[in-house]
Amino acid sequence: MRKLVCLALCFSLLLTGCSVVRKQEKYTATFLEIFDTVTTVVGFAPSQEEFTATAQAIRDSLLQYHQLFDIYNDYEGINNLKTVNDAAGDHPVAVDQKIIDLLQDCKRYYTLTGGRVNAALGSVLTLWHDARTDGIHDPMNAYTPDTAQLTAAADHCSIENIIIDEAASTVFLADPQMRLDVGAIAKGWSLQRVCEAAPEGMLISVGGNVCATGPKDKNGTPWVVGVQNPDDNSQNLHTLYLKTGSVVTSGDYQRRYWVQEQMYHHIIDPDTLFPSKLWRAVTVVCDDSGLADALSTALFLLPLEEGLRLAAQCGAEAMWINGENARFYSPGFEALIRT
Ligand code: ADP
Ligand code: MG
Repeated sequence: MRKLVCLALCFSLLLTGCSVVRKQEKYTATFLEIFDTVTTVVGFAPSQEEFTATAQAIRDSLLQYHQLFDIYNDYEGINNLKTVNDAAGDHPVAVDQKIIDLLQDCKRYYTLTGGRVNAALGSVLTLWHDARTDGIHDPMNAYTPDTAQLTAAADHCSIENIIIDEAASTVFLADPQMRLDVGAIAKGWSLQRVCEAAPEGMLISVGGNVCATGPKDKNGTPWVVGVQNPDDNSQNLHTLYLKTGSVVTSGDYQRRYWVQEQMYHHIIDPDTLFPSKLWRAVTVVCDDSGLADALSTALFLLPLEEGLRLAAQCGAEAMWINGENARFYSPGFEALIRT
């Protein structure tokens, strides 16, 4: 009898054990409408429903950031960066605190990168954006922006003219011809905030920005993140181990077009006002995804020595690929490589 009771007890313990430790499956969700790129959320959950709820919350949050930081579209009931741009030189615009926080960091990144990454470069970037859009639609008549127009636009890119009033929660562009463009920073910056609010052990990717909220499991198994070959998006040059923090790549293969067989991409050197030719791609690994995004654009625009110094100053690791496909690494980068 005692044996029977013991057996029954073991069985019931086993049953309760089963209900407490639920098996975790790996799930993936993909979203297309955020920051004009592909967002992928990967994580482990006891059921598809639970994962879907988490992934949807991440999507909703990223979409909110996307709408606030959009410079091309209006959204009903929202004052976004387009609203701020449209009011340049005219009046301050009341904005969400997220816009104020982003623009404060844009100012910090401007100083940190010696002005390489300038969120007030919009009037120059608009000329490139329009030329690229036209060139993609009509390749036979593709053109580069008029240099006189570029030079004139460059006179309206002072970051000091972004006037932030924290107390009133407003932003005012003091120069009527200036425009904001946060394309170099916004994806990584938003991803950082979303990752801070997400459960541990997830991998979220927004375009070339990847962020891990912790290792895959309790054993500390790292995620594996591919660094794309600039010449072939179906191949990785390396795969990297990542437990927490971020991997961000800026490359000349992202948004580009051709004028008389010459390729023009989307990362603009503020000195020449033309796309930089120093690098094909730069990958940055660091804790903060917003900083990683700013740095990947900055390092794309800087010679190796200056880039190495900036990466070290920020506690970041980086990899550079030049036009001859030669690779250069910061001192700690190779330790992150799996293959
Ligand atoms: P991606 O957006 O492809 O991830 P980046 O993070 O390097 O690549 O950002 C490139 C975008 O940043 C461009 O599309 C443009 O909107 C903006 N941009 C380009 N050059 C600069 C610059 N020198 N300073 C600030 N923003 C820039
Ligand atoms: Mg960037």
